[in-house]
This record gives sequence, C-alpha cells and structure tokens, in this order.
Amino acid sequence: MSKEFWNSDIETIKIQDLKDLQFKRLKNIIKYVYDNNKIYHDKLKDCNFKPHVIKNLRDIEKIPFLTKQDLRDFYPFGLLCTQIDDIVEVHASSGTTGKPVVGPYSKKDLEIWGEVMARSLWANGVRKSDRVQNSYGYGLFTGAHGFEKGAEKIGAMLITISSGNTRRQVNIMKDFSSTVLACTPSYSMYIAEVAEEMGYDPLNDFNLKIGCFGAESWSEEMRTNIEKRWGINAHEHYGLTEIIGPGIVTECNEKKLHINADHFYCEVIDPKTNETLNPGEKGELVFTTLTKEALPMLRFRTKDLAVYDEITCDCGRTLPIQSRIIGRSDDMMKIKGVIVFPSQIEDALMRVDGISDNYQIIKTTKNNITSLSIEFEPTDERFKDGNLDDLEKLAEDEIFTILNLKVPVKAIKPRSIPRSTGKAKRVIQR
Ligand SMILES: [Zn+2]
Repeated sequence: MSKEFWNSDIETIKIQDLKDLQFKRLKNIIKYVYDNNKIYHDKLKDCNFKPHVIKNLRDIEKIPFLTKQDLRDFYPFGLLCTQIDDIVEVHASSGTTGKPVVGPYSKKDLEIWGEVMARSLWANGVRKSDRVQNSYGYGLFTGAHGFEKGAEKIGAMLITISSGNTRRQVNIMKDFSSTVLACTPSYSMYIAEVAEEMGYDPLNDFNLKIGCFGAESWSEEMRTNIEKRWGINAHEHYGLTEIIGPGIVTECNEKKLHINADHFYCEVIDPKTNETLNPGEKGELVFTTLTKEALPMLRFRTKDLAVYDEITCDCGRTLPIQSRIIGRSDDMMKIKGVIVFPSQIEDALMRVDGISDNYQIIKTTKNNITSLSIEFEPTDERFKDGNLDDLEKLAEDEIFTILNLKVPVKAIKPRSIPRSTGKAKRVIQR
C-alpha cells in the first residue's frame, strides 16, 4: 500500500508543535536576515526593530511589512542574504507591471522547494507510476520548474513539453499516455478544444487522471467544467515568485489548501488598516519564509485576499488552511460603488448552460466613470441553436444575482476570443 502523506511528521503535526517549530524558526530567520544583509538590517533598524523583541509568534507584528516595491527598489540582488556565489538557480516574474521580481535559490532553497512540491503533488495523487505532462512555460517563470522538482522527487516520469504548440500537446498526451497535466486551468481547456478539433474525445481517448492547475485565478465552476470535460480530478496550486514559486500550499482530496506552514508562516491583515485579523476573517495574505536562505521574506504583502483557518480537515492533515484566493486587491474593480472581482463574473457565467469557458470582461472608462461589459462565446451547439438574446439575458440575471449590478452581456462567435497558452487575459481595457 502506498503511503498516505509525503511527509507525515509535518503534515500531521500537532498544531502546538507546529507553533513551537514556527517560533524557533522565526527567531532564527530574523536574526539571520538582520546579520546578513545591510539593506534589510537598516530597514529594520529604521523602524526601531531589534531581533530580541520577538518573544512569541504574535510579536511578528513588530516587523515592518515588505512589499513588491521594496523588491523592485533593490532589483535584482540587493536583498540577498547569502553570497552571490551560493545562488544556484534564479527565476523571475514576467515584470508586466514594472521590473521583474527575482527569485534566487541556494542549494538548500531548492531542496525545500522540491520537498513542498512533492508534498502537494503527492496529495493530488501523483505517484512514481505517473507520467506528468508539464505544460507550464519553461523560462524564467517559476511554475514549470517547481512542478519539475516535485515530480522528480516522487520519481514520476516527467514530460518536459513546456507550453504552446497545442496540437503537439495533444499528440504527446496520446502517444506518451500522460496521466497528469500541469498547466494553467485556461490552457487545459484550450488543449481540450484542440483535441476535439483533431477528432478526439477528451473524456475517453486519453489516459489523464489528474490536473495540477495554477498561476491564474479560476472559479469552482470552472474547476467542475474542467473535471467533467477531461474526466479528471483538478487540483489548485498556489505560488508566488517572492516566497518560493508554487508549493506554498498542498491541496488535499477534500480540496482544502493546507499551508506548508513549517516553511511559510501566514498572517492575514486588513489591507486598509494593516491590522492583523483573526482566523476565519477575510483579508490580505502576508507570508514570512521561515527557512529560505537566499532571499528570505519577512512579512511579505501578497495583495491576495483569502481566509486563514486552523480547523481540522477530514484528510488527516493538521497544517492550517487558506481559502482559495478570493481576488487580488489589484484586480478589484469598483463599479457604481459595487466591489467586483473577475472571479465572481466567471462564477456567474459558468453557471449558465450553453456558455463556454471563453469570455472577456471589458472595462471602459469615460469621464472618470468605469463601466463593465462582457463578451462570451456560446458552445458550438448552443450557437447553432440561435436565440442568443435568451442566453445573454440568463447571463445578465446570474451576474445580477451575485453582484446586484446590471452588466451588459453579449454573445459572440465561437473561437473569436484569442486563446492563451499561459495565463488567460480575462479583463481588457477598451
Ligand atoms: Zn485536508
């Protein structure tokens, strides 16, 4: 019989033992940062912070936050806490909204990364006998490399196809009998679409069992659609270049995201007042890396909104849980006084029969007033049936139910929205 957890000592640790471990590691990492990087040292000193004031975990609140801007200010290697020669691998974010954020790793950091990725892939059901089609883009972006390290640690067959060339993805999936697909959720749907065009039935013609999806926000409704279309179990992955890449959490078979909290300490704060919130309250995730050597993060503000909880899970893991990301504070839109997250719109659209998973939210700003409209592609069959006005009305009603906001919705011809092989562009400005 196969073992249940990758690392049962940690994954089923008593919560008090976890807290003791976190406290010990927190004290060490603060002292380490304080002693090993001058910029970091001065930043802490400027806030009158001294490492010895940390007497319990809650004292972490005495440490100032670290933001993406801080990382950009000292781009690329200003905040390193090791020697530059100790760096054995470097990744970076795309930098679409400014300078890229750099993720340097020491040898020990890579071991940690492999460990947390193995935990999460193992929890998704990945075993040595599996064949992992790694369709995340291989490049500076952390995604593909994290999945590679975890799959190798488990000893699965890794198929390093990268993203793009979608007909080839389908052929390789068929010829190599891939059992696991790792990519963005939207790309998995595009691969299914191309497979159909090539005359295959995604549900019956492949050997796929598990999907490891991340790097973009996707709703539960989208998850259900993907699972039905491929006949797989679709799992969420959450990662940040600043923290380690993917591997911050492990999604179990109860579809709960357990934080790998022996390495990543999680707080939730009110993004407006910066006040620390209690478990169960929604706010911005703040992470502290407890073990990273090259570029440790003390209280990094993620801008991701979620809920943190220390509740028991039926899977047997005791590691704390974070909800799926409710939205990025950056993605939040305020329309006629109503707070709107793109994922809420996706939820509404996916509830309507006959709407495909391809849609775009169009933001228009006129005289400083922002309004929204939506374009979606009906499924091929629904498009042929005509009477698209009815479908548009159904979608508008669903959106109104969720947001209490009237948003005009328009059905457009199937395959007219550009497809992405990485992160889908759901919101466009017109
Ligand atoms: Zn669980």
